[in-house]
Amino acid sequence: MNTTTTVLGYPRIGPRRELKHALEHYWADGDAAQLEAEARRLRAETWLDLKARGLDTIPGNTFSYYDQMLDQVHLLGVVPDRFRALGLSDLDTYFAMARGRDGVAPLELTKWFDTNYHYLVPELDRDTRFHLNPDKILTELTEAREHGVDLRPVVIGPLTFLLLSKSTSPDFEPLSLLNHLVDAYADLLAQLDAAGVDWVQLDEPALVQDRTPAELDALRRTYDKLATLTERPRLLVATYFGDPGPALPVLVSTPIDGVALDLVSAPGLVEQIAALPSLQRKTVVAGVVDGRNVWRTALGDALSTCATLSGSVGRLEISTSCSLLHIPYDVEVEDELDPRVRERLAFARQKVDEVVLLGRALSESIVVDAGNTAGRLINDEQAVRDRVAAIQTGDRQRAPYDERRTAQESIGLPKLATTTIGSFPQTVEIRRARADLRTGRIDQATYDERMRSEIAEVIARQEDIGLDVLVHGEPERNDMVQYFAEQLDGYATTKLGWVQSYGSRCVRPPILYGDVSRPNPMTVRWASYAQSLTSKPVKGMLTGPVTMLAWSFVRDDQPLQVTADQVALALRDEVADLVAAGIRIIQVDEPALRELLPLREADRKAYLDWSVGAFRLATGGAPAAVQVHTHLCYSEFGAVIAGIDGLDADVTTIEAARSRMEVLADLAAVGFRRGVGPGVYDIHSPRVPGTEELIALIQAALASTPADQLWINPDCGLKTRTYAEVDPALRNLTKATQQVRTTL
Ligand code: GLN
Ligand code: ZN
Repeated sequence: MNTTTTVLGYPRIGPRRELKHALEHYWADGDAAQLEAEARRLRAETWLDLKARGLDTIPGNTFSYYDQMLDQVHLLGVVPDRFRALGLSDLDTYFAMARGRDGVAPLELTKWFDTNYHYLVPELDRDTRFHLNPDKILTELTEAREHGVDLRPVVIGPLTFLLLSKSTSPDFEPLSLLNHLVDAYADLLAQLDAAGVDWVQLDEPALVQDRTPAELDALRRTYDKLATLTERPRLLVATYFGDPGPALPVLVSTPIDGVALDLVSAPGLVEQIAALPSLQRKTVVAGVVDGRNVWRTALGDALSTCATLSGSVGRLEISTSCSLLHIPYDVEVEDELDPRVRERLAFARQKVDEVVLLGRALSESIVVDAGNTAGRLINDEQAVRDRVAAIQTGDRQRAPYDERRTAQESIGLPKLATTTIGSFPQTVEIRRARADLRTGRIDQATYDERMRSEIAEVIARQEDIGLDVLVHGEPERNDMVQYFAEQLDGYATTKLGWVQSYGSRCVRPPILYGDVSRPNPMTVRWASYAQSLTSKPVKGMLTGPVTMLAWSFVRDDQPLQVTADQVALALRDEVADLVAAGIRIIQVDEPALRELLPLREADRKAYLDWSVGAFRLATGGAPAAVQVHTHLCYSEFGAVIAGIDGLDADVTTIEAARSRMEVLADLAAVGFRRGVGPGVYDIHSPRVPGTEELIALIQAALASTPADQLWINPDCGLKTRTYAEVDPALRNLTKATQQVRTTL
């Protein structure tokens, strides 16, 4: 049988983050030629590597200087006026949209579905018209041909583009631009056809979210129109991250040539495919290799899925479930990983090899080794499993709030208590100490001493500023997840496992590979040292179970909920140790609670049940007199607001400065009555908020929240800022609070 192989997309930051470095150079010195040369080199390297590995069709336009949605804004010529008005070159206009410039705010940045990748949100209004600008795609086609590679260009599909865009006119729906947009795509397809492109891939991940009948109708019209054009390449419409559900029959009833489906997140699709006769005349790109997680594929299972499918489709192409953008490049370079962990891993290059191997196995009937190591657990700790099995409902239940509130009066806090979210600026000296420890230039004792003196300075500064609840400043943490992952059993960290988060920003998610447990206390010595320096309460600072999973690669052989409870039990022990060490306030951060929210409404309640349950298990052992805080980033909570209430934290601090306290009204609507600290200082900006402005925000908050419920704090941690910004901002914050207090 003629089975071919492909992947839906590939990482672009470079195996050693070359693009990040090139971008940062360009932003500093403006040498565009150098940046472009590096970009060309990276593209060629990717194409040639994919070709050498034996992939039949290679996706194009997967390179981006910053983000694929931003590329699409450029492609469709919908650059908002405020950026055009800057009169910059195309490249600098592009970066202005991404990063802002000369007081012009950038496009909004938000999460790409339920991944940890962020895209820039296109802005559309009533007057938007599309002006096609396909130079980038066409240039890459030519470049690739010079290397003997024919590409299948990948662009975001028209529906997903509109559904992810933001309306900037009142009473205007981006979807109303669909007809104009489809015309622009028709033009694009004609140009690609003229350029000799065989297939084009239109990504429509928005189809795996709940869609209205009107949206499904728009889907039908879009692809009926595009697929009946005469001058066009063959059309592959790709969905991923879930099951397109009712969108699938609509989509395949149109005369498109192929559809890519994510059979990893939605294995049930295999049966649906068999029930759709129109697929017998189309290509089905079967995403059987997980593009979002790092485990080796169970090749035997994947192979039998493919064999089943091949009977019910016109032509089968084997692929990854989604773009490989979300995983690191190469596991081979991870020579410090425990070999038992490493042999179970496949990063982007290895996933390509798996796809190729599956293709060979099918078309040449080569036997693959089905007995590979995929799925085998290596940190199998019966004690951890027993403990999870023994969890009681009461373990997730603290004393009633009123009782806690009374018990916590002994902490002695004023109304409008002031605090920060945890981290203080990570100075050059702190980073250098960490690097020096890693390379062996300083020993552990010297490193610890540097951290202690940093903590002492941070405590003294907070006392001087007059904050009520202090923090130790988190100087010892490279990252709020990795720091804990390094200390927990069942977690590994990588050397070069970088994944793009947005633009030049990359993260290195730890790998949770087995049962999780805590061999030793993780934070107690730093917290108790900080507390020993002051009579004010110092908050213990932990990362919550949901965030520990959301920002890691997680084992997929058991429900997330079980893994979350294992992490929660480890944190519960840490909470107990902090309490025993005399810490009276403990903050458990859950900035990722919103992120893991399932894409479909029907799955959300179950998610909130287990995620909230894990948080409550982590904190449920805290005595009534100990105040539990939590912190959440982002102000758009909508769907998780009930979950926030369910966390049952004594105090919840939330990002709110940009949305001018909107979240308070949402919380009031669900009858939230525990402590709440809406951020009054936007730490994402270098700007120092003035006292008057802070007073106005505090007063706005007081309009919906009683003074004894309200806390005053910044939006988020201060680690990315400098002291020159943070010091005056916090002084203004305490000053503003004191002034408002006199009016209570
Ligand atoms: N405690 C963390 C800090 O202050 C919280 C970071 C976050 O919310 N992302 O850095
Ligand atoms: Zn935050």
